[in-house]
Amino acid sequence: AKENGRGKFCLFSAEMNQRVFEYIWLDTNLRKALEHQQLVIHYQPKIDTNGHVDSAEALVRWNSPERGLVPPASFIPYAEESGVIVPLGRWVLLSVLAQIAEWRRKGINLRIAVNVSPRQLIDHSLYNELKKALEDAQLTGCPLDIELTESCLIENEEQALAVMQLFRQLGAQIHLDDFGTGYSSLSQLTRFPINAIKLDQSFVRGVNLQPVSQSLVRAIVAVASALDLCVIAEGIETVEEDKFVIANGVNIRQGFLHAKPMSAEALEHWLKQRK
Ligand code: C2E
Ligand code: CA
Ligand code: CA
Ligand code: CA
Repeated sequence: AKENGRGKFCLFSAEMNQRVFEYIWLDTNLRKALEHQQLVIHYQPKIDTNGHVDSAEALVRWNSPERGLVPPASFIPYAEESGVIVPLGRWVLLSVLAQIAEWRRKGINLRIAVNVSPRQLIDHSLYNELKKALEDAQLTGCPLDIELTESCLIENEEQALAVMQLFRQLGAQIHLDDFGTGYSSLSQLTRFPINAIKLDQSFVRGVNLQPVSQSLVRAIVAVASALDLCVIAEGIETVEEDKFVIANGVNIRQGFLHAKPMSAEALEHWLKQRK
């Protein structure tokens, strides 16, 4: 503890110093990354019960000249805190739409799921931008699944509901991400216009060996099917996990067992090879 000029004490640890430094580094460099096109989008396929590719999830990465390929977990939280997530998220959405349009010209028809942060959801311009981008890209229908987390719904209930309804009107689907890890109640599943829930990886990991996870997965699937919601299991890494979730009514599977996130080009190649 260190005494400051006014006789008050403040804690100033090396760890805090490091965090402040990291925050400033990210704040400056993330904006630059956006301007200089250092962000890239990878796509991870989702597989339906027939073993066909259902869709893919867009996952952003940062190709930093200083740090190499930076995973989103190390910059999305900062982007959310600082507000850079708004232009960053806009860039992701527009890039995904451009990619979908390009794939359609090549005869590839794929729905893409995009992660949307709470901060983006309360930004009024998002809906109008999306609408215009869909028109510009001349995409018929809206081949987008919007992945929201439970905190999105809790933080701004009314506004979240309004924006979700607008997205639905455009033809997008709403998926509830990381289901079971937040504080949402089951009643939220009926209050919000949700199409699917994504079972969090923590329930899927080793589910074939863990009775508690098994009960949770079965209970969630039961609730979802009563409400006519699709269930997506993420983080499937083993054949045993995959078999368990299929046997217990999960509709869509996503995870390293099936495919890792990959560049758009690699995905095209992967799709060709599967045929
Ligand atoms: P998420 O939305 O829950 O995405 C799933 C994460 O799990 C991804 O990590 C994915 O690569 C990883 N994953 C997929 N299958 C497996 C598996 O079988 N095993 C394991 N261990 N992991 C698997 P990633 O790409 O590092 O993304 C981390 C998080 O960053 C995402 O979690 C999401 O919350 C956020 N994120 C990524 N892209 C965006 C974006 O464009 N916008 C926003 N707002 N958030 C994003
Ligand atoms: Ca997600
Ligand atoms: Ca997730
Ligand atoms: Ca997550």
